[in-house]
Amino acid sequence: MLDNVSQIYCLAEAHGIPTEDILLLDLNISGARKRTPSGRIRFQLHADNGDLFATGFRLGIQDFYLALPTRRSSPYHFVGDRLMLGEESLGQALGVSDDYCDASYPRREGTVLNINPNARTACRGCRFCYTAFQTPGDRERLLTLDTFRKFLHSCLDRFQVSNLSHLIEVAVVTGCFANEREVVAFLAMARSTLNEFGFGGELFYFGSQIVNPWAIDMVAELTPFGICFSLEVFEKRDILRDFKSQLRIGQLEDAIARARERGIRTNFSYVVGLESMQVMERGFRRLLPEITSFPIINVLQIHPGQDDIRCADAGSFSYYLDTRRLVEDLLSPTPMRPRPWENYRGLWYLSFACEPLLGPRTPLPSTAHELFNKIVGCASAKEDRA
Ligand code: SF4
Repeated sequence: MLDNVSQIYCLAEAHGIPTEDILLLDLNISGARKRTPSGRIRFQLHADNGDLFATGFRLGIQDFYLALPTRRSSPYHFVGDRLMLGEESLGQALGVSDDYCDASYPRREGTVLNINPNARTACRGCRFCYTAFQTPGDRERLLTLDTFRKFLHSCLDRFQVSNLSHLIEVAVVTGCFANEREVVAFLAMARSTLNEFGFGGELFYFGSQIVNPWAIDMVAELTPFGICFSLEVFEKRDILRDFKSQLRIGQLEDAIARARERGIRTNFSYVVGLESMQVMERGFRRLLPEITSFPIINVLQIHPGQDDIRCADAGSFSYYLDTRRLVEDLLSPTPMRPRPWENYRGLWYLSFACEPLLGPRTPLPSTAHELFNKIVGCASAKEDRA
């Protein structure tokens, strides 16, 4: 969307936003130029451009994690291991690889474990979804007690720990299960097995299949528990897959409210770029009373065949800055704030409503991508397929 660094500086000054937030937002929307068969890449950016990343330097934050579509029209490109915007070098791109969708991966410097036990890349149907463009490293299912236990033992080896007490959250982020009953059964099995391994943190479910009162009441017993209701869109529900498109906002509102009343940490996911800001504002105002943590707001990333789903307003960069301001106005009076480690393609990176966003944001503390590959098992996934 933007073409050069001058635009970044101008927008940052005009809106009182760090240049990093403008740049990383634009990078996520625009993608990067690179020849790949899959259409997506991921890497860690170690920023060393002290002008564009001045706020990050001041806060001691130079590393950012990115997963991007590859787009021939993007002004972002690579020269050797450098990420460039036009002629301007932004920093070192560590471990650029296809965007593997793994069966598990760390976040928050290794203190959060995301698991994908049901092959998310096999899930299809939402028009904006990018999992079909990820390289599947997730075909090993972890749904039975036996496979899940084996997987947790392998985590002990990979993290080089004797138990999982260092994790603050285990997030179940996966493709859809056959039905709600199967999700609840898996989560109950996961909670008791994780407890055996010394895990005392939050079990978190990101999905759309826990909606009925009986299911919410059951997962409320798996305390501490969190749910991100994958809403994605308020009005254009027909772009979602089968049963997800049939879920109406009223049903989701009731489900979120019940979850909150049962002591579950609640939020919802939303994709910015699909609907007008007016629709977004109406929907956010409706659901905000029911959530207890910041929504997961992703910017729409366009892949081949998806150009027509972006709403007309989102063709301009100002739409993203306006939606950012809208959410800041709605949420800054509350204690809810974005958690940079859980969303690599959000509207915020270093600042929310003029407050700094501190804390970890990369999968692992080390910038050594070899270590990253070792822990997420991406190298072994490659070998498996060979
Ligand atoms: S439910 Fe939709 S967004 Fe989620 S993985 Fe399946 S197709 Fe993608």
